[in-house]
Amino acid sequence: MLGWSINLFRIRGIQLAVHASFFLLLAWVANDGWRSAGAAGLGWSVVTLLAFFGCVVLHELGHSLTAIHFGIGVRRILLMPIGGMAEFDSIPRQPARELLITLAGPAVNFVIAGLLWFVIRTFGDEVTLYSLDGFIYQIFFANLVMGIFNLLPAFPMDGGRILRALLAWRMSYLRATRFAATVGKVICVLGAGVALWSNHWLLAVLFAFIFFAGEAEYRAVQRREIEDARWRETLARVYGPTTTVNEPPLLSR
Ligand code: ZN
Repeated sequence: MLGWSINLFRIRGIQLAVHASFFLLLAWVANDGWRSAGAAGLGWSVVTLLAFFGCVVLHELGHSLTAIHFGIGVRRILLMPIGGMAEFDSIPRQPARELLITLAGPAVNFVIAGLLWFVIRTFGDEVTLYSLDGFIYQIFFANLVMGIFNLLPAFPMDGGRILRALLAWRMSYLRATRFAATVGKVICVLGAGVALWSNHWLLAVLFAFIFFAGEAEYRAVQRREIEDARWRETLARVYGPTTTVNEPPLLSR
């Protein structure tokens, strides 16, 4: 399903791609704006959505450029109606690196929100929806919400990755991942319940998506651990049991 995407352009060598379903969202938002305020409503709705996703790209670039700084390749940034996703060649198992790469995303949102706050302070009391002031207000709140929501400890969201990195200082990487994924699942079930109860269907779908993404990533880590263990066994057989191998030398990390 993730294959249904269109490549846009490259930023610092990273391919920016947009999932086909994004255009459905764009059409829906445009129609909604048109129906509530005609051409001005349509125009501001589309501009706001594009600016919102521009901030999603900046969030993902925060992760990506920090990853590149640590020598990790970034294949692409994919935009979907539910948000963005940066695809890395590998995820560092050094907790400090994972922590910095993860924090860089929400930090971008808080910096944008902080800068817009200085602009908002100059506004009067009345701010209308389809206007420049209304637009700036919406982008300010969107960044605040994006930063805070991503910090929820719902693995594999940023907050969950932060939790995993903190746990990995004290326990094995696999155990830390399992722990973070379990906490994430509990939050997703509770979050989806509240979302359904308050009729926020899209939010419920988002929590379901995070639930399964967390499980998939935990399984990927588990598979990798088994492969690594087999590799160590093979090396021990070839070089004899006296050789200590801490890291499989041929596997990239
Ligand atoms: Zn993020």
